[in-house]
Amino acid sequence: MEATCRNCETAYPKHYNYCPNCSQKSNLHRLTFHDIVHEAIHYFTHADKGFFQLIRDLFTKRGLVAYEYINGKRKKYFPPLNFFLIIVAIFVFVATMGTPQEKENVLKTHPEINQIANPVDRAQTIAVYERMDKATRFLSKYSNLMAMCSLPLSALVFWLFYRRAKYNYVEHLVAGIYMTGICILVYAVVIMPLSFWLGFKGRPAIVLFFVLQLLYFAVFYYGFLQKSTKAQFAKALGVSFVNLALWATLSSSLVRFYIISGFGGLLT
Ligand SMILES: [Zn+2]
Repeated sequence: MEATCRNCETAYPKHYNYCPNCSQKSNLHRLTFHDIVHEAIHYFTHADKGFFQLIRDLFTKRGLVAYEYINGKRKKYFPPLNFFLIIVAIFVFVATMGTPQEKENVLKTHPEINQIANPVDRAQTIAVYERMDKATRFLSKYSNLMAMCSLPLSALVFWLFYRRAKYNYVEHLVAGIYMTGICILVYAVVIMPLSFWLGFKGRPAIVLFFVLQLLYFAVFYYGFLQKSTKAQFAKALGVSFVNLALWATLSSSLVRFYIISGFGGLLT
């Protein structure tokens, strides 16, 4: 006796509980409201592969999560990109709750501009100060959004320093998604609310985020690559530092270039 899968139309023996091709259940009943809600809740809370379990595992097992996921335990963990997209959504939500910094009146904060006689020079100086203000306001709110853009570069750095680890670029990228994701989550739900509450904006919050990433990335890679000696941990810490320093240099040069040039009028 054969049954036909209603999802992928593969024929299989009737006593099977799941389709051997696509793993859909063989015994389906009409959809109910309960099914939809159950499915959604399940997605986040499933005992071993849910979103919340992944967060717990990223704290308790750290790099072992990436090790196991990459080496075959694909169903055990919440998928990396889905995880990252949810983290981005949480981050953007929290970031919009903070009170926006007000746009500064450049002529008031920098009265010396009024002494510039040449009107062309004056307009240019005003534009530079305005872009500086804009960049400061953008960065204090969305500096972590830039951490997301750091993923391709950081995977490259870890791949270069750990070429002998036999992981390809994409596998380093997956490890990077898990470790950057959890750091952004900690920033969004702990550091950012604390900074709103205690009123330390901008720099201290970013420094805290950097220290968090520096230490977590090192511990994460130490576990991910199954290392066990102090020297290997020191190397992980060093690579983590190089990675962050490179990113900080690159992004701050980009910001500086924007302030000076305005990207040739591309962004004003
Ligand atoms: Zn099927």
